[in-house]
Amino acid sequence: MTTDIETVVIGAGAVGLAIASELARTRAGVMVIERHHTFGTETSSRNSEVIHAGIYYPEGSLRAALCVEGRERLYAFAEKFNVPVNRCGKLLVATADAELPQLERIEKRAIRNGVGDLVRLSSEEIARIEPDVRCVAATLSPSTGVIDSHAFMAALEAQLLNAGGEIAYNSELIAVAELPGGGFRLSIASGGETSELLCARLVNAAGLAASRVGNMIGSSKEGYRVPSLHPAKGHYFALSGKAPFRRLIYPMPSSDALGVHLTLDMGGAARFGPDIHWQSDLDYAFVDADGRRKSFAREIKRYWPALPEAALIPAYTGLRPKIYAEGTPPADFAIHGAADHGIPGFIALYGIESPGLTASLAIGAHVARLIDG
Ligand SMILES: Cc1cc2nc3c(=O)[nH]c(=O)nc-3n(C[C@H](O)[C@H](O)[C@H](O)COP(=O)(O)OP(=O)(O)OC[C@H]3O[C@@H](n4cnc5c(N)ncnc54)[C@H](O)[C@@H]3O)c2cc1C
Repeated sequence: MTTDIETVVIGAGAVGLAIASELARTRAGVMVIERHHTFGTETSSRNSEVIHAGIYYPEGSLRAALCVEGRERLYAFAEKFNVPVNRCGKLLVATADAELPQLERIEKRAIRNGVGDLVRLSSEEIARIEPDVRCVAATLSPSTGVIDSHAFMAALEAQLLNAGGEIAYNSELIAVAELPGGGFRLSIASGGETSELLCARLVNAAGLAASRVGNMIGSSKEGYRVPSLHPAKGHYFALSGKAPFRRLIYPMPSSDALGVHLTLDMGGAARFGPDIHWQSDLDYAFVDADGRRKSFAREIKRYWPALPEAALIPAYTGLRPKIYAEGTPPADFAIHGAADHGIPGFIALYGIESPGLTASLAIGAHVARLIDG
């Protein structure tokens, strides 16, 4: 087979760019296809920008392993390429005695996941370091931080281009055909025209559209199903004025979200969110700002009683690309290769929700190991 390009990655979010720049380091002929005019305009720019330590995820899951590995890779990458990060740490707070068993369970799970630096603090110790936080106890995670996600993706794009890779913006994959001797014929719409591109390997890092792209190809293995998308929106409020915190503050998580937490951006401005709102479409609208301000304030006041409620300003939303339905057990990252769907040369990533930004560089290395298998 004669191909136009060896490897095509669909999607220029943080994950697609991390995969492409990792592949371009070791092989020629890597191209990213992105439907928008630039990188990271979907989930990769609508998140909390937190570098997670790897505390919450089930032992043995890809989310746990790739988060812990990815966090270290991300801090090292940021230092090497001057990407702004703030290793500010986070407090996971128990606001009532009834939450202490959950805090303990989370600490034990974190240790099993390889997060060995957690420190349990009493309410007196917390009063000394974050006097505005109210809680009965908290766990400090010193290796949690925040990153400028736009600068991170710009650095990944530069890495990719410096290594000889390419990016085609304003180009949407609309159909895929498997070639008889292996490889793929891609139909790509760009500027009102459709062109064809032949490639030997294809990586589906299309985020919220990953299931749609996966269904363009299907599978050759009986019983294999492309995971279905179940979008879950998260709303964020910004805080006008200065927040009195130096660390991120997280309440106890639920099974499908981390709770309305306080994060700080690189400039130190505070924002709260995301909540969770399951929906059937990909609408980003900020729904019921007034009602939501009240429910956010209720949640936040459990750990910050002095919150000035009127200072909560509706900011933005993000859509989690979940692959499990509301009320069903959470799914792991699904990174499928030929062993799963039976199509050599095709890697597909589904359900890359949090901690996908943290894990992105580790996901890149994982896909590079899988792609020749
Ligand atoms: C509310 C929220 C908060 C989060 N907070 C955090 C956090 O604090 N820390 C953390 O580590 N993670 C966080 N995450 C997760 C993280 O943001 C994602 O895991 C990560 O950004 C996913 O990147 P991606 O490249 O897979 O997807 P995306 O950023 O969605 O990129 C996919 C790209 O594919 C393109 N595309 C789709 N279909 C096609 C097509 N047919 N042709 C061409 N291009 C196509 C899209 O245009 C898009 O640019 C959060 C996620 C959400 C929703």
